Amino acid sequence: MKNKIKVRDKEFGIFIKADAIDQSVSRIADQINSDMKGKVPIFLIVLNGAFMFASDLLKKVDIESNISFVKLSSYTGTRSSQVVSELIGLNEVVKGRSVIIIEDIIDTGLTIQRMLEILHNQEAADVKIATLIFKPGAFRADYKIDYIGMEIPNDFIVGYGLDYDGFARNLPDIYKIVE
Ligand code: 5GP
Repeated sequence: MKNKIKVRDKEFGIFIKADAIDQSVSRIADQINSDMKGKVPIFLIVLNGAFMFASDLLKKVDIESNISFVKLSSYTGTRSSQVVSELIGLNEVVKGRSVIIIEDIIDTGLTIQRMLEILHNQEAADVKIATLIFKPGAFRADYKIDYIGMEIPNDFIVGYGLDYDGFARNLPDIYKIVE
């Protein structure tokens, strides 16, 4: 582990080490195992950033479950100038099911807000949200986040699935931008 790294044109400093990440992941897994006892949830892994968190988390989850890898895609409708977003990659019927969204980071919260609307329209029985990182200072949505690994200030971070310009997702530790 290096204390300072360069990703493309930006400098980053070590922020959250792999050990601390692992402790947060274990804590969330314990909470899910206890809350979901007797249920068979669908985990929705929000690509791309959540792949590493989801992989570590789900190895520690010991309940029967389905897993889908989803992406929220935005496009402009053909008949109006309105931007529409839809959930792609969902291969389970969510009607009547417990759903747990797995996200790497919640910033403004708007991505998950749109996902919640879609899942509600599809009549999911119950939707919970698990995020490794939460930026309370940037959050401007209106829903409860059920599982939070760590809260951080409004800094741009990379590593452990999070990228800058497509790079640095593979780093096992999280780094913060040096302004
Ligand atoms: P939100 O809709 O909550 O504002 O944004 C969530 C998405 O923004 C995340 O899934 C992630 O892709 C991106 N994002 C927000 N903050 C950061 C950050 O500090 N670093 C990186 N790499 N991506 C971020």
